Amino acid sequence: MTNPSTRNEWLERASTLELDGRPFIGGRRHGAKTDSTFNLVNVTTGENLATLPDCGTEDVDAAVAAARRAFETGLWAKMAPSERSQILKRFGDLVAKCGETLGLLDTLQMGMPIALSTAIAPAGGGILRDFAELAEHHTNLILPSAATALITQIRRPKGVVAAITPWNFPIHVALSKVAPALAAGNSVILKPSEIAPLACLMLADLATEAGLPDGVFNVLPGLGATTGRLLALHKDVDCLTFTGSTATGLRLLEYAAQSNMKPLLLECGGKSPQIVLDDVGDLDGLAQVLFDGFTWNAGQVCTNGSRILIAEALYDRLTARLIEKVNAAMTGHALEPSIGIGPLAGTLQHQRVSAFLEGVEPSDHLLAQGTISKSVPFEVAPHLFEAGDPNSRLTQSEVFGPVASVMRFKDEAHAIALANGTRYGLSANIWTKDVAAAHRIVQDLRAGFVSINRVPQPAPAGARFYSGEPFGMSGYGADGGLAGLLSYTRLQSVNYHFA
Ligand code: ADP
Repeated sequence: MTNPSTRNEWLERASTLELDGRPFIGGRRHGAKTDSTFNLVNVTTGENLATLPDCGTEDVDAAVAAARRAFETGLWAKMAPSERSQILKRFGDLVAKCGETLGLLDTLQMGMPIALSTAIAPAGGGILRDFAELAEHHTNLILPSAATALITQIRRPKGVVAAITPWNFPIHVALSKVAPALAAGNSVILKPSEIAPLACLMLADLATEAGLPDGVFNVLPGLGATTGRLLALHKDVDCLTFTGSTATGLRLLEYAAQSNMKPLLLECGGKSPQIVLDDVGDLDGLAQVLFDGFTWNAGQVCTNGSRILIAEALYDRLTARLIEKVNAAMTGHALEPSIGIGPLAGTLQHQRVSAFLEGVEPSDHLLAQGTISKSVPFEVAPHLFEAGDPNSRLTQSEVFGPVASVMRFKDEAHAIALANGTRYGLSANIWTKDVAAAHRIVQDLRAGFVSINRVPQPAPAGARFYSGEPFGMSGYGADGGLAGLLSYTRLQSVNYHFA
C-alpha cells in the first residue's frame, strides 16, 4: 500500500481502519466486565468515532492481577537483560512499521497534523530500542570490600507499574513511560487518555507479537475518574507514573497516601520561558522558531514556550516580526499533509482555551491574532499578547493552546526573575551567542530541561541521551535517559560475608 499524500487519500485510509477499543489484559483482548462506556470523538469531523468501555473495578483488578502474576513468575523480570532487550527491539521495529496507522489514529482522536503524527509515531520505535540498549548495558556496583566480604548495590524492578498518560502526544508519552518501565523488568498497566486511547491499545497487540510474555504489558481504556482513579488507589500497584495536569497530579498524591504509599513519577504542567538575549542575529529566523515553539501541535505541549522574554534592546524589532508571523498564521484540517497548525483536541479543550482567551485581563494587550480555516471543528487561531503584569492569569497559567505573551527584561537578573516567576519549572530556552551568559543563567533557572538555541520539542529518538527532573509544581522524578530508566528500579544493597 502506498502512503497517502492528500487529505482525501488520508480520509479514505481512515475509513478502512479497524477500531478495537477492548482492554488488553494478560496477553490478549477481552470484552470488558463493565457496562459503562465513553465515546471517542473524531476531531476531523466532530462525529462519534467509537464507543469504548470505561474500565471499572473488575477490569482494573484483572489487569493488576495479570501484571502481578507475570511479575512474580520472573519470566520477564529475571530474564537475561540481553534477551529482554531483543524482545523490546522487535517491539520497537513493529511500532516503526505500523507508525502510519498509529499516527493516523492519534490524528483522528486529538487532531495532531497528520505529517507530525506519522513522523512521531514510528519514531516511538526508537524510544523502545534506546531503553532496551540502556537496560542491557547499565551496570550495578560492587563497593570496596574486605577480602572476606562482597558488598554489592543492585537495581531491582519496582514491580507492577501503572502509567497514566495524556492525549497531546499519545504514543510518544506512553512509550516514554512504557519503554523504561519494561526495560527495567517491570510489568506495566497503561491507562491512556480517554481522548486518544486507540493507538495505545494497539501497542499491546504489537508487544505481544514481538514476544513479550503474557501479562507483562496491559492496556485499559477508561476515564480518569474511573479507571485512572482505581489504578492510583490500587494497593497492589507498586509505582505510578503520570504525565498530565498539575490538578490531576495533586489528586494522585492523595490517592497514593490513601492506599499504599506507592511512589509517583509526575510530569505535570509548565509555563516555559523563552529567554532572548540582546546579541542574537537572525531575528526573522528566531521569530519563526519562537512562533513554532508556541503553536507546534496547536500549542498543546507541556514544554510550550509560551512566555517570550526579550532583552530591551531587541524587544521592538523581534516583537514586530512575531506579530507578522501570528497575523499571517492560518490553522487547517488535521488530515491535510501541508498544514502546520491543526485543531485542538475536542470540545473540552476548545472550550477551555476559548474561555481563557475571553478572560484575559486588561493588563495584557492583544498584539496579533491569526485566522482559522473553519475546515474542521475545534480550531483556535494563534494569539500573541503583550504581558503588562507578570502575575496575570496569562503569564501564570498553562493555556495548552497556541497562545503566548511577550515581555521585556532589563538585564540578566531581571530575565531570571521573570523566568522563575511561576509555580512551574519544566523547561526553558535561552537564545544567545554568549555561551558564558547562557551558562550563568542556567544555574539559576528553575527548569528541568533547558535548551540553548534549540526549541524544546520532544526528541523521540533521543530518549537515551538526556535526563531531567522538573521543578516546583511541574512534578518530580527523573525522566529520560539512564536516570529515567533507573526511576523504574529500586536500589538494593547486598552484603555477602564469608567466614
Ligand atoms: P487533561 O485535563 O489535559 O486531559 P488530565 O490531567 O485530566 O489532563 O489527564 C491526564 C491523564 O490523567 C488522563 O489519562 C486522564 O484520564 C487521567 N486522569 C484524569 N483525572 C484523573 C483522576 N482523578 N485519577 C486518575 N487519573 C486521572
